[in-house]
Amino acid sequence: MKLVNATAKGKVYITGAGPGDPNLLTLRAKSLVESADVIVYDNLVNPAILDWAKPGAEKIFAGKLPYCSTVTQETIHLWPLDHARAGKQVVRLKGGDPLLFGRGGEEAVFLREHGIDFEIVPGVSSSLAAGAYAGIPLTHRNDAQMLLFVTGHTQRSNKTGLDFDWPMLAKFAGTIVFYMGVRNLEQIATRLVEAGMPAGSLIALVENASLPQQKTIAGTLADIVDRAREEVIGTPALIIVGEVVKYHQQINWFAGIQAQLKQQIA
Ligand code: SAH
Repeated sequence: MKLVNATAKGKVYITGAGPGDPNLLTLRAKSLVESADVIVYDNLVNPAILDWAKPGAEKIFAGKLPYCSTVTQETIHLWPLDHARAGKQVVRLKGGDPLLFGRGGEEAVFLREHGIDFEIVPGVSSSLAAGAYAGIPLTHRNDAQMLLFVTGHTQRSNKTGLDFDWPMLAKFAGTIVFYMGVRNLEQIATRLVEAGMPAGSLIALVENASLPQQKTIAGTLADIVDRAREEVIGTPALIIVGEVVKYHQQINWFAGIQAQLKQQIA
């Protein structure tokens, strides 16, 4: 019989689960998932990753669905805390990288405030996967010397619209990646043009980056809304604005093996 160590010190590992393909987790993330007592995971985490958990590990869905919150952030904060206090090794799995639009920072502050030990394990962010798997280099020696990550959705944006410094974005001489922006695509494209970005500027949408069902569409600020409607782009998806989108057709290596991957799944 295994003795329970009542004095075991619990710890929370705020861990990046990568963009979707389970092969894109770090080795550290994989071994933590394998040894965790409790796994608290978000909806963008590929469920296949949970199969690595040891028998008896508790798996808790934190239910952060896009654009709505089925569980309050306070409750989500409390789960890892309570389990760590009970001496458990808790893996808090978040899609992509936990500190990029993942509220991992808030959860770390909360744990610190409550005296709970934690570590942060970086992950492959969806924007990096979208770049790689759609063949869009986010930086390029000739075409983009800067890169900007922006949220395409804010708490207030539903009511008052996105209150960014649009002229700054329109002038930005590099690549802009919008996370969580698909619902606001029309607003983003329109506001960029109104603020002075040429309507012919290139833009791409990458849905389900790194997964067999990945979908990429490319266009211009002027036609992307119609194209997204025609192609029925859903979530999760990223918006990439910049000259580097022109490389998509040329570098798009993943399309060649997607059909094969889809067959394997069917
Ligand atoms: N921490 C995550 C981002 C969380 S915000 C990361 O580093 O990737 C959630 C947003 O990420 C989604 O609305 C979408 O814009 C993007 N996203 C996450 N996974 C994605 C995927 N596989 N393909 C495209 N976009 C994705």
